[in-house]
Amino acid sequence: MPDTMKKRVIAKQRSTELKKHIEPYLSARPRIPDGFNHWSKILERQEKIKKHFNVTDEKWNDWHWQASRRITSVKTLKKLLNLDEQQLQAVSKVGERYRWAVSPYYLSLIDPDNPLCPVRRQSIPSWEELDDTCGQDDPMAEEYTSPAPAITRRYPDRLIINVTNQCAMYCRHCQRRRNIGEIDRMTSREQLNAALDYIRRNEEIRDVLLTGGDALMLSNENIDWLLTELDNIPHVEIKRLGSRTLVTMPMRVTDELCKALEKHSPLYINTHFNHPIEVTPAVAEACGKLARAGAVLGNQAVLLAGVNDDPHVMKKLNHELLKVLIRPYLIFHAKNVKGTAHFRTGVEVGIDIMEQLRGFTSGLAIPTFIVNAPDGYGKTPMFPNYLLSVGRNKVTIRTWENRVMVYEDHCVKKD
Ligand SMILES: *Cc1c(COP(=O)(O)O)cnc(C)c1O
Repeated sequence: MPDTMKKRVIAKQRSTELKKHIEPYLSARPRIPDGFNHWSKILERQEKIKKHFNVTDEKWNDWHWQASRRITSVKTLKKLLNLDEQQLQAVSKVGERYRWAVSPYYLSLIDPDNPLCPVRRQSIPSWEELDDTCGQDDPMAEEYTSPAPAITRRYPDRLIINVTNQCAMYCRHCQRRRNIGEIDRMTSREQLNAALDYIRRNEEIRDVLLTGGDALMLSNENIDWLLTELDNIPHVEIKRLGSRTLVTMPMRVTDELCKALEKHSPLYINTHFNHPIEVTPAVAEACGKLARAGAVLGNQAVLLAGVNDDPHVMKKLNHELLKVLIRPYLIFHAKNVKGTAHFRTGVEVGIDIMEQLRGFTSGLAIPTFIVNAPDGYGKTPMFPNYLLSVGRNKVTIRTWENRVMVYEDHCVKKD
């Protein structure tokens, strides 16, 4: 056989081997719902919810309507989901302790008949929230990392401004539950000015994150004002917005918002998708608009038991995100926040997910898995172990397929 033919035979054998690697995922995938293949069901539910509120399509697509009609009463919930008496009781009892609210749009993603629905698990209170005996109110000690009003600073060159405590939906796994309270609080102009002053005085700050709450709960005018102030600080190189509205209220992304954002490049928007069912055609439209406005989109997922603590679900989530122009950025290990014990997994669950992503799928679909160090000492990346030992001019490595190999440094420059 000629040489090229031999090589082709070897490549074909290798292809067969590679195909085997993806079989478990290909057989799991059809059972994982996503927002595109469930869209017609979601639209049916939206019709039902619209009827309940007696609202036009135009209103439904108006984010002010969505925000002001967030569902907050057990009575309404009872009409729109199939919850039994015990579950309804849980909602009202837990609601006395931890705020809840769901935008009508996000509610339409819930499968009303499935108690294990991942969207329901993230948004509807359950008894488990009161069973948490080991969680802390503020595990990251955020109260001790605020050198100026509304600011959280944990790193040398970047910081957060908390611009509001409002959200379109209050996540049951929220890490800042203690700030949510019962009333909507926008950070005052006075506090924002104090925060901006802090940034002006500290020239090493080159990256400013606006978050909350949800940065896109601010009006277009306020967002435009804040971003303009930041653009006027010479040492601020980039801005980031943290928002879950892309997931919970995609109609927030209006042409007017995009027109305002367009002026403030470079601008990065990090959002928070946790399950492929959340990635819908409505989301794709909103992401397209933001991308055309020059915003760079990233996702920060949280590893949540019963939602995405499964390598196949996480892989599909990341694929769905890339299709709508969102680059998976981080997966957070769920923090020890009081009232969220039922969402926590071991760290090893996240490491196993990372193990099953790297090599098996596009590098673009692989976020960094992060454990937040206690007391606010920062995001700490967790990886499967690929470096087995370091020797003189060589390292022993473990590849994504579990091959242990020696990698030699050849002709390294020596001083
Ligand atoms: C997460 C976070 C940041 C941003 O961290 P990156 O790793 O740059 O994404 C900045 N400041 C605070 C306080 C944070 O919690």
